[in-house]
Amino acid sequence: MQAVLPDLDEAGVLAAIDRGTDAGGPTGRHWTLDPIDGTKGFLRGDQYAVALALVEDGEVVLGVLGCPNLPHDAARPDGGRGCLFAASRGAGAAMRTLDDPAFRPVHVTRTADPAGARFCESVEKAHSSQSDSARVAALLGITEPPYRIDSQCKYAAVARGDADIYLRLPTRKDYVERIWDHAAGYAVITEAGGRVSDVRGEPLDFSLGRGLEANKGVVVTNGLLHDAVVDAVRSVLGL
Ligand code: AMP
Ligand code: MG
Repeated sequence: MQAVLPDLDEAGVLAAIDRGTDAGGPTGRHWTLDPIDGTKGFLRGDQYAVALALVEDGEVVLGVLGCPNLPHDAARPDGGRGCLFAASRGAGAAMRTLDDPAFRPVHVTRTADPAGARFCESVEKAHSSQSDSARVAALLGITEPPYRIDSQCKYAAVARGDADIYLRLPTRKDYVERIWDHAAGYAVITEAGGRVSDVRGEPLDFSLGRGLEANKGVVVTNGLLHDAVVDAVRSVLGL
């Protein structure tokens, strides 16, 4: 940030973040920012994301995901790191590395057989039920072990084809997902050709303020797998 605003110090950044007082809702235009999404990953020196999205009249229209630790290429985890994803409605999704300004389009996989799919989920057991996701995977015939990474890097991973599915299965009945944990990833994955719903298959509703009050959990897929994955999730959760 200091490259753009050289006089900005730590206190200035914190004061700017504290100006984010918009309650969101069904009308108007607001930004939603998660300055460090995946704090647990950040503290472990692992994956985290800076997630920014623009919401217009309750719809996500633009998303940017900065993933400073994400390998440029999932097949070369020891290679360069740091990726930036951007998507705006109708214009597709693209990725650049942090050391090269050239964006290239990203697209989800074309995996159509659930048994050949790879799914990602939270590292933190408190954020997504790993026992329920194991049951879903077994029901779908998935044999690949889960790809566990923190933050909205999971949306990015599905958007560029490192994985086919992202499961976020509730660990508590009363937890309401926060819009800043999903809006940027939602923009990127939908523009990359993927699909997003909650565990019942309902679309995510970003028009209800700061929480996804109408939804429970999140299911993300490459689109082709969506119905089969939601069916399996509903069956495991008894919905
Ligand atoms: P992840 O890195 O995907 O595990 O998600 C990190 C996000 O999980 C944080 O930004 C929190 O807002 C959110 N979080 C905290 N508690 C819960 C919970 N019980 N269920 C789901 N998400 C949670
Ligand atoms: Mg977060």
